[in-house]
Amino acid sequence: MRWSSAFLPVLKESPADAQIVSHKLMLRAGLVRQTAAGIYAWLPVGWRVLRKIEQIVREEQDRAGAQELLMPTMQSAELWRESGRYDAYGPEMLRIRDRHEREMLFGPTNEEMITALFRDDVSSYRDLPRTLYHIQWKFRDEVRPRFGVMRGREFLMKDAYSFDLDEAGARQSYYTQLLAYLRTFQRLGIRAVPMKAASGPIGGDLSHEFIVLAPTGESEVFYDAAFEGFDWNQADVAYGDAEGLTRLFEQVSGTYAATDETHDAARWSQVPAEKQRTGRGIEVGHIFYFGDKYSKAMGLKVSGPDGRPLTPMMGSYGIGVSRLVGAIIEASHDDSGIVWPEAVAPWTVGLVTMRADDGPSSAAADDLYAKLNAVGVDTLYDDRDERGGVKLGSMDLLGLPWQVIVGPRGIANGVVELKNRRTGEREELSAEAVLNRLT
Ligand code: ATP
Ligand code: MG
Ligand code: MG
Ligand code: MG
Repeated sequence: MRWSSAFLPVLKESPADAQIVSHKLMLRAGLVRQTAAGIYAWLPVGWRVLRKIEQIVREEQDRAGAQELLMPTMQSAELWRESGRYDAYGPEMLRIRDRHEREMLFGPTNEEMITALFRDDVSSYRDLPRTLYHIQWKFRDEVRPRFGVMRGREFLMKDAYSFDLDEAGARQSYYTQLLAYLRTFQRLGIRAVPMKAASGPIGGDLSHEFIVLAPTGESEVFYDAAFEGFDWNQADVAYGDAEGLTRLFEQVSGTYAATDETHDAARWSQVPAEKQRTGRGIEVGHIFYFGDKYSKAMGLKVSGPDGRPLTPMMGSYGIGVSRLVGAIIEASHDDSGIVWPEAVAPWTVGLVTMRADDGPSSAAADDLYAKLNAVGVDTLYDDRDERGGVKLGSMDLLGLPWQVIVGPRGIANGVVELKNRRTGEREELSAEAVLNRLT
């Protein structure tokens, strides 16, 4: 993309209404604009990042054996009356009437709808287990929408739902999603620690929140530094390996991590002092086993091997896809702007001409841009006729992993500058060497 023809409105000043750094940076770097309280338009840069995150989430869900579908945002109140949640959900639910006075709502989550879909098409134990997911906009009329996309009212969520014949099967589905989550967040380039969460009305140990460390987080967290060393992509566990997944779960639950809601001072005191990590964190995902809560209320049954009806056991698994954009920035930025992990960066390379009016450097940059495109390196080319310093400042703000800086002096010597945004390291190289380095 050439900046001169892009819709990329960067702001010089920090917007006064933004309180936390990720919100400020998302506005300044032109990722989003608020269109109503807690509702955001995703501008091209933000949309690129959102889609990259969504795609990694999707690939890891698919790899874990979940199947994607798409349910609508609008739901009928009838569905929620079946589970009893229409009245129970409260004012966070946005309720709407259509022209025929039918009661509708903008879905805050999809347990009811998926249970009804499954009920209508599944009748035998042979059709279980299944895990289904979608990535869809949700609406929750939060009392205090704040921190930009971090607590919006309309937000993008990946939500998966598992159906199993019994609790043992449901545990396996839960462990499978646990591993998928650990791998997803690692691929996104952030550390999200699974923390035991309050388990709700049905009890049990099967509820974890995934928390990204950041000083602006809403919950206080306590965890064992061992979580910093685990490599979940190398972990010797395969999906479908029941023993391996059980071991993984035991490893996770045996390593201390809790939010203020579940913190246990006695267990904490057993974590060696040098391994105790405390701070604040942002909830980016939540997995939950709830047994037959919805299947029972909504009459979902399948016939078992002996012909007798069985009520499937369910779990649900959410990831805040749009919240992650803010959370990743909270975890990865510096004084000059965003520092994107490579996997989610809107472009991999920012190519900058220091003097757009200098013929030889423009020609060299045009040539490099064409070559980067030809080998498929996502590049934003700042070819605008602006002061070099301004352009470098904007590039730092945007946070692309690599900058290639082309100026008249370098070109006279046959070199350009390659800068690593995260470390700030700079090197002078020939254009050819840069190409080799970036491919
Ligand atoms: P919170 O505690 O932040 O209100 P929640 O526990 O109500 O979140 P869940 O029902 O567990 O949220 O939904 C799954 C995920 O959806 C959350 O882990 C979070 O990442 C995301 N999420 C929830 N509410 C919002 C929101 N208002 N804006 C953006 N993302 C959200
Ligand atoms: Mg909430
Ligand atoms: Mg929560
Ligand atoms: Mg939650």
